[in-house]
Amino acid sequence: MKNFQNSVDAYKEAVDLMPGGVNSPVRAFKSVGMSPIFMEHGKGSKIYDIDGNEYIDYVLSWGPLILGHADDRVVEKLQDVVARGTSFGAPTTLENKLAQLVIDRVPSIEMVRMVNSGTEATMSALRLARGYTGRDKILKFEGNYHGHGDSLLIKAGSGVATLGLPDSPGVPESIAQNTITVPYNDLESVRYAFDNFGDDLAAVIVEPVSGNMGVVPPKDNFLQELRNITEENGTVLIFDEVMTGFRVGYNCAQGHFDVTPDLTCLGKVIGGGLPVGAYGGKREIMEKVAPVGSIYQAGTLSGNPLAMTAGYETLNALSESSYEDINQKVESLMEGFRKASEEFDIPLQINRAGSMVGVFFTDEPVINYETAQKSNLDYFAQYYRAMIEEGVFLPPSQFEGLFLSTAHSDEDIEKTIQAVRNAFSKINK
Ligand code: PMP
Repeated sequence: MKNFQNSVDAYKEAVDLMPGGVNSPVRAFKSVGMSPIFMEHGKGSKIYDIDGNEYIDYVLSWGPLILGHADDRVVEKLQDVVARGTSFGAPTTLENKLAQLVIDRVPSIEMVRMVNSGTEATMSALRLARGYTGRDKILKFEGNYHGHGDSLLIKAGSGVATLGLPDSPGVPESIAQNTITVPYNDLESVRYAFDNFGDDLAAVIVEPVSGNMGVVPPKDNFLQELRNITEENGTVLIFDEVMTGFRVGYNCAQGHFDVTPDLTCLGKVIGGGLPVGAYGGKREIMEKVAPVGSIYQAGTLSGNPLAMTAGYETLNALSESSYEDINQKVESLMEGFRKASEEFDIPLQINRAGSMVGVFFTDEPVINYETAQKSNLDYFAQYYRAMIEEGVFLPPSQFEGLFLSTAHSDEDIEKTIQAVRNAFSKINK
């Protein structure tokens, strides 16, 4: 058995200092019945806790670290930049460099604005869509997460296309009512919503691959039809690529599926592990943002030199073949999961898009929030705790995907598959 005493002690100290002892709720490991593990350092595909335990890491800071931890190329450039000052509140050419790279690589982006998180990116994109169209309502999908902005922290009511209900105390009902929620992958509900609210819909916001109910890819024509319907109705189509951006493929999910939205939100990989988000899109829309246009959005630390450097060096290190390499490892890993599920008779669905992988403990295909909810959470928790013992660090929730990086080796994958077999063999049915 691994020893976690230092983590247990650190958590005792932390719960008095921060709500739940953490700065983001999922880090409290609530759904897997464990005390949180405190991390000390990471290198490549490995992460090390404060008790000295080593893990193969499939969390990768929830997606950003596509090159693995502390990549030498990124660290070296960051060291250089940090010594020159961390923030100036005036433009730097580092911002031009990252902006140009993003514009070159993301099909929908002609102009971009850097912010500090995915939440900021989606909040700002919504304000822009509303200001641009002069409309108030937005449409989102059940089980899609777009950060914690009031308009987006909304759960579905009951029915096909529902006016939203606040997902959290503190979100006013008057705000929730402007958010319409429909099931993911369900075009009929989208059409129904447009029949009823089309003239008032400023934006449709969607995760092109859903990554926040576990991984759920879009059905065949889902994204293309969203494009068609929004175009017909003068509604701004926003792809929230905070998770999928530069992860599902070299040109993001929109390149992979060949559907171009009006606006795109980015985060995670674009910051290479530093706090960065971005939103961008058609020049005509982006030029409504201050100071060219009148739609206000700003940030003291936006575009700061460290974040720009980590983002640029990370994206610059990726080529199309990096994605092919990662994808091959993903396929081996999935094959290992499939075989282990047969060997130990564990119900399992494996969804995947690029290097985002969703493993659900259920017999039924997972195509939306409702089907994701059918997963056996007890099996997940048992598997999770066994994998920690095996030295594999996974997202501590059934409803989060796991990520791979260019630093994951064939040996890591083999070890992980053996760990999965050991974990599945111990699941108490
Ligand atoms: N959008 C998506 C699709 C996300 O996955 C996340 C974070 N998991 C966010 C937005 C919010 O990003 P942040 O946590 O950086 O605010």
